[in-house]
Amino acid sequence: MNWTGRIVLLLGILTSVYFFWGKFGRALRVIRQSKPDADFQLRPIGPRIRKVLWEVAAQGLVIEQRPLPGLAHAFVFWGFCVFALISINHFATAFGLEFLWREGFGRFYYWFVAVFAVAVAVSIAGLAFRRFVIRPKWLEPLSPESGLIAFLIFALMITYLAQFLTPEGTPAAWVIWWSHTIVLLVFLPLIPKTKHMHLVLSPFTIFLERNGFSRIPPLVGDEDFGLDTGKDLTRIASLQAYSCVECGRCTEQCPANNTGKVLNPKEIILGTRHYLNEFGPRGEEALLGKHISMEATFQCTTCGACEFQCPVGIQHLPIIIGLRRGAVNTGKWDNPHGGEFFVTLERHGNALGFPASERQKFIEKNNIPYFDGTQEYCLWMGCLGSYDPNGRKIVLSLVEVLRYLGISFGVLQQEKCSGDPVRRLGNDYLFGELAQQNLEQISQSKAKKMVSICPHCVRTIGTDWQEQGANIAIEHHTELLARYRDKLPATSHGQDIVFHDACYLGRYRGVYDEPRDVLANFGNVVDPPRARERGFCCGGGGGLMFLGEETGKRVNVERAQELAATGAKVVAAACPFCNSMLRDGLSANSAAPPELLDVVQIAAAAIGKAEKQI
Ligand code: SF4
Ligand code: SF4
Repeated sequence: MNWTGRIVLLLGILTSVYFFWGKFGRALRVIRQSKPDADFQLRPIGPRIRKVLWEVAAQGLVIEQRPLPGLAHAFVFWGFCVFALISINHFATAFGLEFLWREGFGRFYYWFVAVFAVAVAVSIAGLAFRRFVIRPKWLEPLSPESGLIAFLIFALMITYLAQFLTPEGTPAAWVIWWSHTIVLLVFLPLIPKTKHMHLVLSPFTIFLERNGFSRIPPLVGDEDFGLDTGKDLTRIASLQAYSCVECGRCTEQCPANNTGKVLNPKEIILGTRHYLNEFGPRGEEALLGKHISMEATFQCTTCGACEFQCPVGIQHLPIIIGLRRGAVNTGKWDNPHGGEFFVTLERHGNALGFPASERQKFIEKNNIPYFDGTQEYCLWMGCLGSYDPNGRKIVLSLVEVLRYLGISFGVLQQEKCSGDPVRRLGNDYLFGELAQQNLEQISQSKAKKMVSICPHCVRTIGTDWQEQGANIAIEHHTELLARYRDKLPATSHGQDIVFHDACYLGRYRGVYDEPRDVLANFGNVVDPPRARERGFCCGGGGGLMFLGEETGKRVNVERAQELAATGAKVVAAACPFCNSMLRDGLSANSAAPPELLDVVQIAAAAIGKAEKQI
């Protein structure tokens, strides 16, 4: 290339890099200036490296989640990787610094990349067709920038192939060379301006994910109220906000969004990004307002489907619960039902508002032993197991099954709500009070092992109470029963039992097989279309069981319809929240709904000892 060409090219490169860095450097500054994450721990590093290799290098997660579009995306990503060398060599050639020649290894590599160019061109065309012609609703709103980027990637591949097939030194080769160059120079500054920022950031986002699923960060000091204004956003939250690829996987799975609520988890993340772009990491403006809706934030059931699906490691729940904390702790959330609910818990210590004497009467009437330190398990009853008629039936069934298996157990003299609903609603003060009162009881009782019918209590006691200094071994009853499966009767008459995965048992605890294994003793276990990791919430988590839903279709009705549509005569649940929500949903759907039972009720019925008075 002559000197004029080189000067023009150099100016083009400098302009392109200048605009790239303008946007990218600003995002980096915002991330760096955000608040450090108090709970962040880099170790252990091994699992982080494995995650990056699987999710970024192998594109394992996206392919697993959506095989065809996932594979198309993988080819585009792998294409970028193999093209890096070609692109550097492309610019080096203009300055006489070429290092890949059309012979030897270079010849092989050009051919290798040519194969990729075809695959990338087909893949990007397919992805654009899906986005702009098929138009899945979770990809809305369509951005013209996405169309432009798709066109540029396609143009890069076509110009590479044309260059590859055109004899060197001809006028046609000169035109194609410059076309390819111009596309590259336009493409670079568009990366940080669009969702393609994830190309650069997502390996770091995945590597630096906060340990643990839906882990709520601790509040640090008296001035920390949660996510109230921009200065409360942490570095990881900011990094995640800039990494969103706008794929809508979170929205596609969200039970609130699927039933016509305002909540769209993708928009919560993008809202955080827009806030940071407008007000910066030291913004004094409230986070809930122009860019993120208060109504949406409090429609979340904390089911975790969004966080579980995100291909770039974005953790929605620390943000959503953080925003709720900010609103509750600063008095900005003035929902009358929420206020009444908090007062009920403060006064009575349980979510249903009963006097504690009702629990005691129930225990004594049914001869449930108190824990005295000699038994193997302390049975945690939870609010529903203590006061709700259907929850009590589940506790009694567990009592029968434990007796049948010869496992000793007892319940606490006094028990208060574990604090799950207030923790998820953002009332940390009340959560701490409840946890501390319970911890006093537990430490006096000297219980070492606990079991509960409620996955929400298991999560809160086992994980959230750690913040209060607890370290309690607690498990869900289906985990315990699965270990004793061989001692339970096998009474299968071939009846279908459809199992509904509880979010706090499945996604939160990774317990999918145990309840199914137990149920297999009593029938054919069938899954509804949305099951296991993609199970659809009952609508009761995140405190919503006690507050209700005000807009759209009810989540429990949607789920009940899906379960009933399997044709199974028995619906099995493994959570008293799900039991209560699905009971309402099933009876709203049909005058003769399928029978709804907890896994342990099915086991107790098989043992033949489930008839007890409440
Ligand atoms: S946790 Fe569940 S309800 Fe909340 S935003 Fe995510 S998918 Fe939606
Ligand atoms: S938050 Fe994650 S799943 Fe949701 S749109 Fe962004 S990248 Fe996709």
